[in-house]
Amino acid sequence: MLGQKGVHVHLLEKGIEIDLRPRATHYAPSAVHELQRAGIADEARARGFTPKEICWRKLDGTYLAGIDQRLLSTQESERMICLPLDKLGTLLLERIKEQTTVSLKYRHKIIDVGQNAEVAWVDVETPEGKKRLEANYVIGCDGASSQIRRSLFSEFPGKTWEQQIVATNVYYPFEKWDYLDANFFIHPEHWHMVARISTDGMWRVSYGEIPGLSDEELIARQPMKFQEMFPGHPTADSGEYRLTNISPYKVHQRLAERMRVGRILLAADAAHLCNPFGGMGLTGGIVDIGGLYDCLIGIYEGKADDSILDKYDEVRRRIYEEVINPVSSGNIVRLFGQDPDKALENDDFLKLLVAAEKDEKALQVLQDGMSGIMHDFTQYYNRPNKTPEKSQAEVTANEQQAAVVV
Ligand SMILES: Cc1cc2nc3c(=O)[nH]c(=O)nc-3n(C[C@H](O)[C@H](O)[C@H](O)COP(=O)(O)OP(=O)(O)OC[C@H]3O[C@@H](n4cnc5c(N)ncnc54)[C@H](O)[C@@H]3O)c2cc1C
Repeated sequence: MLGQKGVHVHLLEKGIEIDLRPRATHYAPSAVHELQRAGIADEARARGFTPKEICWRKLDGTYLAGIDQRLLSTQESERMICLPLDKLGTLLLERIKEQTTVSLKYRHKIIDVGQNAEVAWVDVETPEGKKRLEANYVIGCDGASSQIRRSLFSEFPGKTWEQQIVATNVYYPFEKWDYLDANFFIHPEHWHMVARISTDGMWRVSYGEIPGLSDEELIARQPMKFQEMFPGHPTADSGEYRLTNISPYKVHQRLAERMRVGRILLAADAAHLCNPFGGMGLTGGIVDIGGLYDCLIGIYEGKADDSILDKYDEVRRRIYEEVINPVSSGNIVRLFGQDPDKALENDDFLKLLVAAEKDEKALQVLQDGMSGIMHDFTQYYNRPNKTPEKSQAEVTANEQQAAVVV
């Protein structure tokens, strides 16, 4: 988005290609809004699909409550998109290759950051040796173990859940048992989620596991877990399912002390983490980036001074604390922390879903909740009529504002 406006952006990636491992898959409407602004939503939807219903069930498959996403947004173009993250990355890569103002360098590993009054810089290890690269701003999008965040702060406040998660991709005919596009199962031991992630029959099954096991032990338990969880209870040697990927991972709720320190900014997992149930990690990260774009382009076009970046820091951290952290924590606890037989009596969210089947007001509460992580930063533009001092053509490459995004 910055590149489309003529801002020079240097993307630095420590790997040798974009990360092709299967990870997040679902983009909620608030993220779809940003993909639309970037001009890639229609293509992302065409390469993926629009999931329809989402529901909560007991382990034996009994349907408890759910919602058809078509009720949440009337326009198909605004609805959730499902497309595995590596495929979205491929699409982004195709688009940035068309932009002369954006460069992407692989094998560039950030080892430190710094700044003075005029510029910020990153120190990078590359195959040609160490380098220092400068720009007006450095944006740390370097994920959960962000070196940029570590260079700024010694702590990453929050907690790690003692429950572990195992994410798998698997071919199994769940539709034979009337599974909907996304199904969450409430159970103290075998809590899990089954979601369709492609149009060729692949499903993502993510499930909870007992604490304290090594990755090898978690992987060894997968056949038992599938047999307990899956309808039809297939055994590993039955050949009834085809497992294509399995990745155990730890889940966290954490928020960096600040998302802005002078000319250095943090976004997405580098700034905050949440558990994946409800898909708020990826969606929250994409919404951060849309807001940060509005702030930076406001500065670039002379419509805002750089205090708008303090607003970015304040608002995005507040939204994490008030919405993303409690809602995502509620999403995971809903699955393991209650009696499935009493869930419809006790769980306020499930009660709201049931009410929304008949009651317009309850449906409105759900619709409003979907935009709860969005924020319009253009309201802080404080120089509305100022135009850039030089037109784009008059600005030389060295003078142009640049951002290094890691
Ligand atoms: C198995 C798995 C399943 C998941 N499922 C879901 C899900 O269903 N829903 C959901 O919302 N979220 C899910 N997540 C989390 C989701 O994928 C993340 O929230 C999202 O990818 C964050 O994007 P990001 O760009 O901030 O970080 P990342 O996707 O981690 O990207 C960071 C990038 O920075 C690069 N990098 C790191 N350090 C450096 C350095 N020092 N120098 C240069 N480059 C560097 C990395 O190589 C990487 O390419 C899942 C994660 C995993 C691992």
